[in-house]
Amino acid sequence: MKTPNIRTKQKIVKALKDYARTMEEWVHPIDKIKKFRPSAANSFLLGVMFDRNIDADKAWEAGKWINDSLGEPDDPSALWKALVKMDRKRLLGFLRYGYGGKSFHRYYRTFADQLPRAAEHILKKYNGDVRQIWNSRRDVSGVREALEAIPGIGQALSRMAVLILARNYGLLGGRAALPQLDIKTDTLLMRVFRRSGLIPPRGTDQDAIETAQKLAPRFPAVLDGPAWEIGREWCYPRNPECKDCPLTKVCQKIL
Ligand code: SF4
Repeated sequence: MKTPNIRTKQKIVKALKDYARTMEEWVHPIDKIKKFRPSAANSFLLGVMFDRNIDADKAWEAGKWINDSLGEPDDPSALWKALVKMDRKRLLGFLRYGYGGKSFHRYYRTFADQLPRAAEHILKKYNGDVRQIWNSRRDVSGVREALEAIPGIGQALSRMAVLILARNYGLLGGRAALPQLDIKTDTLLMRVFRRSGLIPPRGTDQDAIETAQKLAPRFPAVLDGPAWEIGREWCYPRNPECKDCPLTKVCQKIL
């Protein structure tokens, strides 16, 4: 595979941005702040925690389900208090069978350990109201650090969370925060970044983050959604469907 020059990489970025505009789920950054209701904030945080190795829609659904089952609409701390109080065996059973007889997540065992610890942290640090993590704050890195201090939320998930908070809810400064929002590196995105030539075949997550910062400085995370979706819809691990892929004219794997 050729090593593309900067102009070629810019063309790849343009193709990703062009595809982004056609995506059904594309979200334009909003200007007006949308505030979270207490219960929605808890569902959001749980959805962020669960968004690993399962479909994103399922993660958000699972977050809402746990919050609806254990929380109270107007008392944000009720959910976390309930999680702290439940003994591990009962919590494990709830996570294993409570979701209409199914487990709510493939890592339900891991979450049986992490959720009570996360709840303890949230009660201690934020009095049970997770909106304190992001409300009236503009320092994206500080909010990311606060999110990463919660058991179950690592760097990739904190990047995703701040992207949603700023872009979809106008929080953290809204549009002003866009240059600080990075891509969330996962298998799908990395495959597209490597194959298309945006980063070398053995390029790392950090290479991908820095490349997005360099080539899309006004909003690095704009490349996140399109690369992820192309990875899911066309750029399969084997037999990618290059002919129909939105990057077909610029991708270095096939040029
Ligand atoms: S053109 Fe082919 S290899 Fe390149 S990103 Fe699309 S599916 Fe993947």
